[in-house]
Amino acid sequence: MPKIRELECSRCKATVSAETPRTVCPKCAGAFYVRYDLSGLKGRAKRDEIARDATVSGWAGMWRYRSVLPEVEPVTLGEGWTPMLRSRRYRNVLVKEEGANATGSFKARGLALAVTMARHYGLTKLAVPSAGNAAGALAAYAAAAGIEANIFMPKDVPFANYVEAKMYGANVTLVDGLISDCGRMVAERKEKEGWFDISTLKEPFRIEGKKTMGYELVEQLGWEYPEAVFYPTGGGVGLIGMWKAFVEMEELGWVKPGRRPKMIAVQSSGCAPVVRAFEEHASVSKMWENAATFASGLRVPKPYGDYIMLEILQESGGVALALPDEVILDSLKDWAKNEGIFLSPEGAAATAAYDHLFKTGFLTPEDRVVLFNTGAGLKYTDVTAEAAGIERN
Ligand SMILES: [Zn+2]
Repeated sequence: MPKIRELECSRCKATVSAETPRTVCPKCAGAFYVRYDLSGLKGRAKRDEIARDATVSGWAGMWRYRSVLPEVEPVTLGEGWTPMLRSRRYRNVLVKEEGANATGSFKARGLALAVTMARHYGLTKLAVPSAGNAAGALAAYAAAAGIEANIFMPKDVPFANYVEAKMYGANVTLVDGLISDCGRMVAERKEKEGWFDISTLKEPFRIEGKKTMGYELVEQLGWEYPEAVFYPTGGGVGLIGMWKAFVEMEELGWVKPGRRPKMIAVQSSGCAPVVRAFEEHASVSKMWENAATFASGLRVPKPYGDYIMLEILQESGGVALALPDEVILDSLKDWAKNEGIFLSPEGAAATAAYDHLFKTGFLTPEDRVVLFNTGAGLKYTDVTAEAAGIERN
């Protein structure tokens, strides 16, 4: 594992040491990237050690990439190295099944690493606003680490998110509002309560955990990039983390440079701040009023890392698009019935977006694409049943 060299601001490039816990850039409030000295890892021989080490020394899941993660003892529940499922109908479409993670969603990766670092720093009380799955993941890893978790989430999150957080022993506050309201409550109380704010992009390590999705999808494709990556975008940390992984892999000579995938940010028409900003060629998003969608993870009216995502979408030649909930629900039903895959509503936004870009000619049948199912459909049975009109008689 490499030593952290410094933290670098994603906006003004200021650097600080990682010796003590950090939140955001003190100069401009930008999110921090973790920077290492990776010079000892260059070349494909080092890359190929990853698979061998994972087999021999049992570094399972996302910790197979420990050579590019901070040098600390992990708090792990077996997250990462999720299956890449090939579609039965579209031979070049692959679904990255993040529902297979501990706690049933991609949030496990970022919070495994963030809680690992929190324990390393000796933090004892963490707090987070969540649209749902981050709450469950924080609660689980905090329980595993013996750290207190304080969670604020909208009162209409999928029931599973509430139950799991309670069962893991977190202090849960249900809020009559959106994640932005929850975030405000954490900000107001954290100082008095002595909480460390582990919100999306307000601490540097959730990106680091999520970046393993980028390493993983490339390794699972034989260390090659796909043409495009479809990513359901709420807070957008995964998109930012994967792009960081691509940059690192190119620096390390682990992948051929110059042909990075088009990044496709997918939202719901009921909450699409990144899509609107992308279409207006804006550098940041504006707060989305009256955000409403059954894809609860996409109900983020103003993502903190919007400026980074918009840059990445441009640089990658990608696009941001939003689909109405009815279209997302149709795609969810279609994939369940015809592929045997029960997507989360957010994952179904990605499959619906693929259908759309396929029809418009943005992608061809020969383009190999990876669609992220960010969570298990089974975590959403109440919201999906309601959207689909399923009742027990
Ligand atoms: Zn800064």
